[in-house]
Amino acid sequence: MLMRSGECHHCGECCETVNMTVVRDVTLRQHGNLEELTRYLEYRGIRVIGEDVATNQLYYSIDIPCRQLTGDQQCRVHNTPEKPLLCLKYPWAPDDIKNCGYTFKEQTVLIEEVS
Ligand code: SF4
Ligand code: SF4
Repeated sequence: MLMRSGECHHCGECCETVNMTVVRDVTLRQHGNLEELTRYLEYRGIRVIGEDVATNQLYYSIDIPCRQLTGDQQCRVHNTPEKPLLCLKYPWAPDDIKNCGYTFKEQTVLIEEVS
């Protein structure tokens, strides 16, 4: 189980891209192979940033900054009811942002048997 620690230092980096998860096998069948898919998406400004064969997922990233991000990288709707749920929960797993204030560590959970 992954445990999160640290805190947000409001750098705004996670607000500059939209990340998406798609079904891997269906997508690769449509495009022929990963190289073809990557080429097609690059033309459209979309990067393939990873894949997980076990869970049948492909990960995309698109450079589209959030409209609520100010010029000095702050969130206009921070601490308001307008902040999207996804932003409140982020990050729930390691992302590819090097300077994020959060880190993750694998932690073993011990479950005691009740007799
Ligand atoms: S709403 Fe705020 S926290 Fe969410 S992506 Fe936009 S700027 Fe970032
Ligand atoms: S990348 Fe991390 S530290 Fe920066 S705004 Fe997003 S959650 Fe906060």
